[in-house]
Amino acid sequence: MSARHARRQFLARLGSQSLVGGLLGGTLSSPILRADESSQPALEELTFQDARQRPRTITGQVLTTAQDGGLLVEGQDGRLWTIEPQDLKSRQSLSAAFTPWTMRELTSALERDLPPGFEFTSTKHYLVATQAGKGYAQWCAGLFERLFQAFQNFWKQRDLEPAAPAFPLVAIVLKNERQFARFAAADEGPEVAEAKGYYSIISNRIVIYDLTSGDRAPATTAAEIARSVSAHPFNIATVVHEATHQIAFNAGLHLRMTDNPLWLTEGMAMFFETPDLTSRSGWRTVGLVNEVRLKRFLEFAAKRRRPDSLETLVSSDARLTNTETAVDAYAEAWALTYFLLRTRQPAYCGLLRKLREQPRLHWLTPTERLADFREHVADDLKRLDQDFLRYIRKIKS
Ligand SMILES: [Zn+2]
Repeated sequence: MSARHARRQFLARLGSQSLVGGLLGGTLSSPILRADESSQPALEELTFQDARQRPRTITGQVLTTAQDGGLLVEGQDGRLWTIEPQDLKSRQSLSAAFTPWTMRELTSALERDLPPGFEFTSTKHYLVATQAGKGYAQWCAGLFERLFQAFQNFWKQRDLEPAAPAFPLVAIVLKNERQFARFAAADEGPEVAEAKGYYSIISNRIVIYDLTSGDRAPATTAAEIARSVSAHPFNIATVVHEATHQIAFNAGLHLRMTDNPLWLTEGMAMFFETPDLTSRSGWRTVGLVNEVRLKRFLEFAAKRRRPDSLETLVSSDARLTNTETAVDAYAEAWALTYFLLRTRQPAYCGLLRKLREQPRLHWLTPTERLADFREHVADDLKRLDQDFLRYIRKIKS
């Protein structure tokens, strides 16, 4: 099985997963010299060749400089660029402060960059570019705004001070599965073409498609759309999962291009992914038991789980990215997140705080990850493991 085939299978089995942030560049070859981020970042214009060898000119702020002159840059649209020194053609200060583009500026930029045929809908936090009609775009934006509010409320109550997003949150909605596959392959690589949707750390966008497109008659009213997507709860969970990743990164719970352990970012998305389509006023079901993940974890724990399972999960992403072990590891990441948020919330929040304060492009070793977990969550992993299993097994009864 080729690596690409393995990854496709992996994506198909998980439904979605695009938290890789490295398919088209994403890290720099030289060690980091300094972090350039400041409270008053300067706006610069940079001309360079991108990872596909295409010439680019962007305006943005330099976040990080590598020892050899390589740069990590954030564009005014929120996209991240890694630029190797040999690809940088020019760099010029624009004598102005960096500011993210407004909703209107971002809409104009997307109109230029996207293929023809997209319409735009915006709400307080979201800019939806759609090929699937305004009705579906508005339904999506409504769903995302409710999730956004529930997410913010959840963390505010836990003293994690979620930030207001610096950039409008962009969602691209393709007409159907086929259009999605074509767009995804060009945007992020063929690996995501078979997913149901993805969030890209690099572009900061979520990309999804009209889940009602397979219906005999297209759903147009909000009620029809809600009825249609409710018939496919797995698909809608995928959309909510990807939207949660985007909110978590933009509300400052995680920082893009830092060492974010996959169990933690995926665990958080799975904690929120059970959709609440019935409540129009809010998202009352945040943090309910995720039945699919629970069932899988209990089966895993009974048959295949090794005594060092917690240690391997928190110290490395390997079990979550390996086709053979991913579904079990995702279930364990959900269970661990659920357990920690229910029983050791200050410890979990302490670990989140620590991780989001890391420098960009600095990747931790498994030993360092384990040390962070021990310091913030529990030093005695054996004991924690016993408590964890006992707690999760009780959920069922
Ligand atoms: Zn995910």
